[in-house]
Amino acid sequence: MITAETVSSIRTFDSGGLPVVSLYAGVDPGPDGQRELRSRMSSLLDEIRPLAKDGIAHRDWRMSLRGDIARIKDAIGEERWRPAAIAIFACSGRGLYTEVQLPEHVPDRVIVDETPYARPMIAVLAEHPRSCVAVVDRATGRICELYQDEVSELDKVTDPESRRPPVAAGRPDDRVSNRVDELAKRHYRRIAERLAGLMQTDEYDLLIIGGHGYEVPEFVQQLPHPVRDRVAGTFSTEPGLAPLTEIRESAGAIAARFEQERDQQLVSGVLEKAAMGGLATVGLRGCLWAGTVGAIQTLLVREGAAAPGVVCDQSRWLARSGEVCPLCGNPTRTTPDVIDELAQLVINEGGAIHHINSGGAGLMGHDTGAELRFPLPEPPADGSADGA
Ligand SMILES: [Zn+2]
Repeated sequence: MITAETVSSIRTFDSGGLPVVSLYAGVDPGPDGQRELRSRMSSLLDEIRPLAKDGIAHRDWRMSLRGDIARIKDAIGEERWRPAAIAIFACSGRGLYTEVQLPEHVPDRVIVDETPYARPMIAVLAEHPRSCVAVVDRATGRICELYQDEVSELDKVTDPESRRPPVAAGRPDDRVSNRVDELAKRHYRRIAERLAGLMQTDEYDLLIIGGHGYEVPEFVQQLPHPVRDRVAGTFSTEPGLAPLTEIRESAGAIAARFEQERDQQLVSGVLEKAAMGGLATVGLRGCLWAGTVGAIQTLLVREGAAAPGVVCDQSRWLARSGEVCPLCGNPTRTTPDVIDELAQLVINEGGAIHHINSGGAGLMGHDTGAELRFPLPEPPADGSADGA
């Protein structure tokens, strides 16, 4: 599973001056896809092989890069990656080798630098919310992470003192039951502090709480306000016994609803801003121009949308048609899907992408919409007016 910890360890990796190989490759389904992937990845390695030759850089640098190339070459032979894409980060001289499966397509690319090239990975992963899930009762607590369909346990807390109520023979007197409440509160506070720490890191989009129906509200009360505000939902379960599959199912439904509502808010935000002449644009023509000038903060794409178009590789002008780029006069290249080219450009600029489920009103019949960083300049008179 791609945990927040994996992502953060890649993002903050220190190579100490050694080369880090960042390799991205799209993975198509089926045996043909695997064979084709092997050959594309081998060509990517061929691109960086000359860097590891004698005399180019100092010895440790070259040896580390050679180690990375050998390791990735071995991995290619094993053909075990799932669609839609794979990212590999390697720096053998500092013990880094991480594979990250990506749920969306990214273009093939290999980069050798002193830091991992993590931006496409972060942009793709940020599209889906990451949940922190706490399953608690008065004596135990389990903290899990849920991302897409996978759940992993981060932490387990058992408070031995409050495990068994110290009930003396006969009926418990008030003093004993007060003591039990006190221990439970202390246990709740410990878990609440841990959750506050996790939610502060910004690695989690939402918090989900599970437990006995009669205890969950009591626990939620113990959460500090900013943390409580991020509780997206609660579910009922037997805390000590619930298998991870059950936690995944119950919490997954809450996370899916959260993602849907978030997407809906993004859509209505863009539609409203665009209608009022604010920092947003709706429709492919406006979005292509916004992408060309680097103005897109968040790109919304209708799920499954694709459109042929043209690209200028010199000035990165994007449009539905036009043989000559109006910005620099160079010939354009045609592409079967200019929306994909636009998405890659947005990611490279540090923007975000969200695929919008085509159910409901969606983007009012448009394929794309975008939140902008700045007002768009006038598009060139020529070419970009084609198609909407
Ligand atoms: Zn151009």
